[in-house]
Amino acid sequence: MFRVSLMLLALLLASCSPVAQQQVAQQIADTENQLSPRNDLWRIHFIDIGQGLAVLHEFPCGAVLIDTGGEQDSSCDSDRALTQYLDAFFARRKDLQNTLSLLVLTHPHIDHTRGVPKVLERYKVLHAIDDGMDQGSGGAPQGELHSWAAGKPAGTYYAVELKNIPDANGLTNDVIDPLRCQDIDPKIRALWGHVDQDPGWPGLSYGKTPFQNANNHSVVLRIDFGKASGLFTGDLEEPAIKDLLRRSAGNPILDVDVYQVGHHGSINGTTPEFVQAMSPQIAVFSASSASRHEEWSGWQHGHPRKEIVAMLQAGIERRRRPIDVLVGVHKQTFVPGHIDKAVYSTGWDGAVVIEAQADGRMRVVTSGRKSEK
Ligand SMILES: [Zn+2]
Repeated sequence: MFRVSLMLLALLLASCSPVAQQQVAQQIADTENQLSPRNDLWRIHFIDIGQGLAVLHEFPCGAVLIDTGGEQDSSCDSDRALTQYLDAFFARRKDLQNTLSLLVLTHPHIDHTRGVPKVLERYKVLHAIDDGMDQGSGGAPQGELHSWAAGKPAGTYYAVELKNIPDANGLTNDVIDPLRCQDIDPKIRALWGHVDQDPGWPGLSYGKTPFQNANNHSVVLRIDFGKASGLFTGDLEEPAIKDLLRRSAGNPILDVDVYQVGHHGSINGTTPEFVQAMSPQIAVFSASSASRHEEWSGWQHGHPRKEIVAMLQAGIERRRRPIDVLVGVHKQTFVPGHIDKAVYSTGWDGAVVIEAQADGRMRVVTSGRKSEK
């Protein structure tokens, strides 16, 4: 009986499931109800789109979406989860008039680009950046963004290439950072993008060389809002992370408050040196629940991995309401884990929203659960 109710709870909390598809609207409403009535904040919404990534940045004067999810199978329709979430968001922020000031695609894999057609069709997009690539499992939707941009005026689209990022402080321009908010103006800069020449990265344990893997060409953004800051690395893997660390040596550019954990918490998406350089207060995985056994899911990949969860719990001081979860030790193999540091996952918590004030104070809200100071 206890086991059955736990399973039902897991289904209700995971928005990408047949039962919970009907509950998505209610969950979104529950999340929205917990938000502060103020709008002079930076809200970072990690949307639960199953296995994949979709992070909505809500600012006083505009919105930015990094990646579009997600997972598509018998128990998850990420396009629906994404558009339901964005619809509810724009219903609250009517002042934004269904407009994304910036759409970012980190790299052309389908768990990041699947929702591109729906987003371009349903919302007004003013600017877009990506790594300029269109090969890979998500190359077709990324190519669709390029076709969309081809019909727009110059200054609408920019391809971020590492060779154009002058130094550790990153690159910004009117496309990468199109927002001009009056009181606190967010600063958006790119620290990584498409790498045009093979740096000779040493190979990892699987077939493709790291240079051939689109993950290592991910657009990496640092975003600042007053004293609050965050790093969003897409699916950047260890060889590129090491180069990013080398480029940034002696510069505090990687020192941030919020970390979107790279590559869904894969064993190759975070290193101890990287965690040390960031010294984050809050880390968030975007991965599907281990309770859903689908192809290309977090369960199949073993995300998030136990070692990465432990690395973050060791490196983060801030606490969260403790939660018992499943952590991956291998593909399709999970063990129980106990989380009491400010480490969150869309697979454990549903939608995760961080409300950051310009003075650096932060609050975390998760769908269907109470907020945490
Ligand atoms: Zn991915």
